[in-house]
Amino acid sequence: MFYTHPAIDRADGRRGDADWVAAQRARADMRVLPVWRGKNMVTGPREAPQPVFASAADDWWQAPGVEPALIGLIDGVPYFAADVSAVEDPRRDPALAGIGAFVDLRTCGPLLPPAAGGLFAHARALTWFHLRHRYCGACGRPTESRQGGQMRACPDTGCRAEFFPRVDPAVIVLVHDGARVLLARQHGFPRGLHALLAGFLEPVETLEACVAREVYEETGLELAEIRYFASQPWPFPQSLMLGFVARAAGTELVVDPAELTHAAWYTPDFLRAQKGGRIGRDDFALPGPDSIARLMLDAWLDGML
Ligand SMILES: [Zn+2]
Repeated sequence: MFYTHPAIDRADGRRGDADWVAAQRARADMRVLPVWRGKNMVTGPREAPQPVFASAADDWWQAPGVEPALIGLIDGVPYFAADVSAVEDPRRDPALAGIGAFVDLRTCGPLLPPAAGGLFAHARALTWFHLRHRYCGACGRPTESRQGGQMRACPDTGCRAEFFPRVDPAVIVLVHDGARVLLARQHGFPRGLHALLAGFLEPVETLEACVAREVYEETGLELAEIRYFASQPWPFPQSLMLGFVARAAGTELVVDPAELTHAAWYTPDFLRAQKGGRIGRDDFALPGPDSIARLMLDAWLDGML
C-alpha cells in the first residue's frame, strides 16, 4: 500500500524525553526530509525521482525557526521532517539551489520508491500539522512543539490546550452490481479520470452509514451489502481513506448534478482494456497506482473481492 510505513518505530515511549530527541537530532546518521509549502524534495530525472535526505551536517535546513519533527526510526536511523517554507523561492535561494526540486507528492508519488512514499507522506502530514496549529485554538497564544513534534501545546498556564495531528476519516467505495463496477466523475476532475465514490465521515456517523449515505446522495443507489476492505493514509492534506466494497440493491442511477458530472456501470472487459489510460491525457483513465481505489479496482478485476 502506498503512503504507509512497512517498518517504522514511532518511538512513542521515548519521544516525550526532550534530551533523547535532541540526541537523535545530533546523530551523524540522522536524516531530514525537507518540505517546502507542502512539497517534498526530490532529485534525479522527472520519471524516476529520488528522495533528498539532508543530515545533521547540512546547515540549510537549520535556519532560525525551523523546528524538525521526528517521524520515527527505520532500521535504527532517526528520520525528521523539516519545514523550510520560510524560504521565498527555493530555486533562487543560495543555500537550497541545486540540491533538489520541491514537487507535489500527488504528482511524483507513484514514481517514487515505495519506502520513500511513506516517508514523504509522513513528512508532508507533520509539517502541515505544525503550520496549521501555530496558535492555540482556545486562547490564541502561540503554541509550542512537544513530544518531538508529535503534538503542539499551549504554554499559557490557564489554558494548556493540546493539539495533535488531525486525521480526517473518509470512505471510498467500490460499488458493484455483481457483474459491473460503478465509476464516476466529479466537477473539476482531471481529464479522463473515472473514480470510485468517496466522501468524508460526518460527526456521530458510523462508517457503514457514511458509505450508504454517500452512495445514495450521489447516485440514488441503495446497498444490499457493505464490506470493509482496507485503509490507506491519504495526506492530501490529512485524510485516512477507508475502503469498502458494496453490492448495489438495484442498478438505476439518479446522479446528483451538484456532486457528479457523470456516473455509469462498467464491465470488467472494458476496464481491463482501459488500464493504460493516463489521467489528464486520455479520455478514460482509472485512479492512479498509488491509490487504494486502484488497488480495490485491480482486486475486483482479478476476482479477489
Ligand atoms: Zn491556549
